[in-house]
Order: sequence, then C-alpha cells, then structure tokens
Amino acid sequence: MKVLVLNCGSSSIKYKLYDDDQQLAEGLLEKIGTAQAQLNHTVSGQKKTVSVHEILEHRAGIELILNVLQDPEKGVVKDIEEIQAVGHRVVHGAESFSESTLITPEVIAKIEECIDIAPLHNPPNLAGIYAISQLLPQVPQVAVFDTAFHQTMPDKAFVYAIPYVFYTRDHIRKYGFHGTSHYFVAHEAATMLGRPIDELKLITCHLGNGSSVAAVDRGKSVDTSMGFTPLEGLPMGTRSGDIDPAVPLYIMDKEELNLQQINALLNKHSGVLGISGISNDFRTLEDEAAKGDKRAALALEVFCYRLKKYIGSYIAAMNGVDAIVFTGGIGENSDVVRDMVASDMEFLGVQLDADKNRAKERGKAADISKASSRVKVLVIPTNEELVIARDTRRIVSET
Ligand code: AMP
Repeated sequence: MKVLVLNCGSSSIKYKLYDDDQQLAEGLLEKIGTAQAQLNHTVSGQKKTVSVHEILEHRAGIELILNVLQDPEKGVVKDIEEIQAVGHRVVHGAESFSESTLITPEVIAKIEECIDIAPLHNPPNLAGIYAISQLLPQVPQVAVFDTAFHQTMPDKAFVYAIPYVFYTRDHIRKYGFHGTSHYFVAHEAATMLGRPIDELKLITCHLGNGSSVAAVDRGKSVDTSMGFTPLEGLPMGTRSGDIDPAVPLYIMDKEELNLQQINALLNKHSGVLGISGISNDFRTLEDEAAKGDKRAALALEVFCYRLKKYIGSYIAAMNGVDAIVFTGGIGENSDVVRDMVASDMEFLGVQLDADKNRAKERGKAADISKASSRVKVLVIPTNEELVIARDTRRIVSET
C-alpha cells in the first residue's frame, strides 16, 4: 500500500512516500508563507533536487508536493491516485487520544479542541489534514500523535503539584512528546535484545534539536521528561528544560519582559546555546570545547549531567533497567555525549565499551556496552515516519 506521511510545521512540510515499508521518496518544503519557499525532494537512491516557489500557505505547499510526486522526471508515481492513504504527525492529542486513529470529522473537532494547549503545533498539523481533505477527498487519513505513547503514564507521574483544579478544568499536566520515536526505538531494542518487550525495562533517550527521555516499563511509557509543553525536561539546543519556576518570574520582573519575550528567552535563547553563547549545534560545541572553549564545554557538561540524573531517577522509578537506548541526531551521532552520559555508572550495572562507542558506524544500530554489562547500552536510529506509515496502513486496512 502506498502511504504518504506528512509532518506539517508552522512554515515547513516534511514528507515521505512509502510503498509498504519501502521508502520511495522524501522531501522538505521550507519557508512556506513566502515567495522563496524551497523544496528539497529526493527519490530514494537518487540525488536531491532543489527548487524555489511562491508558496503562501500549506494547501499550496501540499499541492506542490503532490505534483512533484507524480512529475514525469522527479516523481515516483504515475498518478497521484496511487496514494491509498495519508498519515499525519499530530503533535498534541491531549487525553483524547492514546493511540493513532482514522481521521473523521469528530477526530478533527477533538484535534481542534487541543489547539488551546498546543497553539503552535496543532494548527499547522490541521492545515495539512484540511488540505488533503480538499485535494484528495477520497483518500483515508490517519493521525499519529506525539503524545499518545505517553498516555499510559500513571497520575503520580503526570500530575503537577499546583492546585488540582488546573488539571481538571484546564488540562494542565505532563503529556510528554516524541512518543512515536520512544515507541519505535523501544520495540527495536527488544528485537535487538531478542526478548519480548513485555519483559523489559528500558530508558529511551531521544536527543536532537528537542530532547526527551522516557522510562518504558514492559512496553508502556511510565514517565518522560517533557511536560505540558516540550519546554520541560532536559536542556536542549535552545530550550532551557527544567528550571526553578521562580526564575522566569524574577527575570520578567527585573527586565520588564512581557509573556512573549520570556517565552522566546526560554524557548529560543536558552539551552546549550544560552550557556555556550556559541551554538545550539552539538557538533560545533564539541569542536569548540576540544579547542578549549570553556563555556562550550560547560554546555555539554550540563546537558550530559542532567541526562545522567534523569537516567538514574528512571532506574529508581522502575526498580531497574535492562537497556538504555540513544537515538536522535545527537544520540545517534555523538560518541562524546554518549560517553559523558553512560560512563561512570558501573554502580548501576552500566558498563560502556569506549571502543565500541567510538567505532559505531553512522546510521547503524549497535550495542556499545561491554559483554559483561548487566545493563545494555544501545544506539538505534529512530524512524518516526515509518511508524506513521505502518500505523496508517494498519488502521486503513482494518476499516
Ligand atoms: P535531530 O533533531 O534529531 O535531527 O538532531 C539534530 C541535532 O543533532 C543537530 O542540531 C546536532 O546538534 C546534532 N548532531 C547531528 N550530527 C551530530 C554529530 N555527528 N555529532 C554531534 N551532534 C550531532
């Protein structure tokens, strides 16, 4: 079955076209809302093509993508009617969705209700859904939620210690994100370990531009570091992560900042960028730290120390762990970060193999722990789009 996977952001659309599990093409349309929107399109196994277009909104962007997919030269289908289903990444499903679902008018209404708590993310996701409803009205659509996998968290993990009415009335609680990635690598880890997932305690670390950790007990997420929004948890490229909640109040008062300004400070100017003053990119930070830049080194240390503490707390929460999994751009590619996080944890049964860690090949899964390590340390490339394609195929076949 040919399934188009769409991930619509505020000014970008990522897409992948699958035929069953085989990826036929992928691409990224950026700078939507301008006359200089750039489309990077790649047919699997071929070179990327780049083109510039005037694309003022998402519907025009998706029309362009559909045209490229059936283009006689750059395309991979003869006719767009070959696409049998479309799967959408939807960021926030709140408590309404604990699994992927076929999109119906009722489902759309519920995703619209979640705009209140995900004002940046859900509107562009919905724009993608509306556009497909108009452009391919016969094609079934499926929503796969970033929050769904974490809906199994017990209330002791998701309730914030603020007046309870804010949970019951305003739905303020920990939701967690990156669920599709945590789900995928947890299942891949079980396959690598050759054990059923319902026997395993896993800690999955998705480390990329946004980073989060999850405690996965017998296949179910029981805790995760991101919260009501993706700002909570680990420090990230430009996000502060956990912070004394009094700090933003103090800064707002002292610097006379309004809500938008403090929001931008915590989301766009903090994290490892804020500490280092140099970059949010871990490659740059590692290079500068190696050259002696103290703040770049400190940024890396803060990030890794905080992750180590999360891992320790999740081992305590689950009363053990069988494997720690690294994924995402940093988790998959930075042996420096993996070493700083997973070394000196022998007390907890974690023995990193420094040579295997350094030698890990790009893009490949690997076990980087010593043979004697009670807790395995795994690196597994994530593939959120593949999960979306599979869920879409399964749900559409069942209906
Ligand atoms: P993602 O959001 O998962 O695509 O991850 C993107 C981030 O991964 C980038 O901002 C980089 O900081 C990081 N990254 C990618 N490659 C490397 C690498 N070889 N070493 C360290 N960090 C990397």
